[in-house]
Amino acid sequence: MKVGFIGLGNMGAAMAQNLLSAGHELVVYNRTIGRAEGLRKNGAAVAESPAGVARAVDVLITMLADDQAVQEVIFGDDAGGGALDALRKGAVHVSMSTISVELSGRLNAVHELAGQRYVAAPVFGRPEAAQTAGLWIVAAGHLESVELCRPLFEKMGRGLSVLGDNPESANAVKVTGNFMIAALLETLGEAFALIRKRGIDTGEFLNIVNALFRSPVYETYGKIIAEQRYEPAGFRAKLGLKDVRLTLAAADKSEVPMPLGSLVHDRLLSAIGHGRGDMDWSVIAALSAEDAGV
Ligand code: NAP
Repeated sequence: MKVGFIGLGNMGAAMAQNLLSAGHELVVYNRTIGRAEGLRKNGAAVAESPAGVARAVDVLITMLADDQAVQEVIFGDDAGGGALDALRKGAVHVSMSTISVELSGRLNAVHELAGQRYVAAPVFGRPEAAQTAGLWIVAAGHLESVELCRPLFEKMGRGLSVLGDNPESANAVKVTGNFMIAALLETLGEAFALIRKRGIDTGEFLNIVNALFRSPVYETYGKIIAEQRYEPAGFRAKLGLKDVRLTLAAADKSEVPMPLGSLVHDRLLSAIGHGRGDMDWSVIAALSAEDAGV
C-alpha cells in the first residue's frame, strides 16, 4: 500500500516518520518544502505539489493547520492542481487535521462523487505523543477504508476509536475534546494564580493536582503552567482558538449553548491580541496570573 502524506508541521512530520520507520513506502509534500528534507534523507519520496502526492498513492493522509489549508490542498486554486482531481478512484483520503464538522461533511461528499473514499481521523496528543506513536486516533467514515488504514493508525497511535460511518462524528468528538482541554487550561490558570499569590509551593500543589486528577492532560499542562513555560509551543494559541471556534460553530448549529466555550474563546483571543498567538495555548494561564497581579 503506497501512502501519501501532506502537511509536515509539528505533528505531521513525526507521524510521517513513524510510517516510514515501519517500512511503508511514503510520498510526502509540504508547502514549505525544506520541512520535507529530514524525511527525504530517511527514504521518503518528496513531491512538488499536493497533486503529485495524490496521483501516486492508495492512501492520502492530510495533517494540515486548518480548514483553509485543507481546502487549498484538496481543491487547489481556480486553475486546479488540488489533490482531489489527482487521486484515483477507490483511493482513500484520511483527513487527520482538526477541521470543521462542516468541511468534513463536504469532503465526504466530493470524494464520494469522485469515486474515492473518505475517512476523518483527527487525533488527540501533542507533538511529543506524535513522535512516540502515542496519539489517540478517532476515526469515522467509510468503514472498509477505516479497516484498510488500521495498520497505519497502529503505527501512529496508541489507540483507535471508531465512531461509525459518518465522518462528521469524528470531527465533532475532536473539537469537543479540545474544548474540554481548553476549559482545563482556564481552570489550571486560575488555580495556579491563587496558589502563587498566596506564596504556596507550586510544585507541591502540582503533586496534589496529579494525585487527585491524574491524566496525561493534567500532567502535561499542569507542569507547563507550574513552570510558566509557554515556549516553544507544542500547540499554538492561534490553533487553539481555531479549535474553540470550531466547537462553538458545531454547538451553534446543534443549538447547544456552551458558555464555558465562549469564555475560553475570549481568553485565547486576548492572548493572541497581546502578541502571544505563537506561544502554547496554555499561555491563557498567564492572563489569570496577570489579572491577579502575580
Ligand atoms: P503546524 O506545525 O502549524 O503545521 C501546519 C501544517 O499545515 C504545515 O505543514 C503547514 O505548512 C501547513 N499549512 C498551513 N497552511 C497551509 C496552506 N494554506 N496550504 C498548504 N499547507 C498549509 O501545526 P500542527 O501542530 O502540526 O497541527 C496540524 C493539525 O493537527 C492542526 O489541525 C492541529 O489543530 C492538529 N493537532 C495539533 C496538535 C498539537 O498539539 N500540535 C494536537 C492534535 C491535533 P508550512 O510548513 O508551509 O507552514
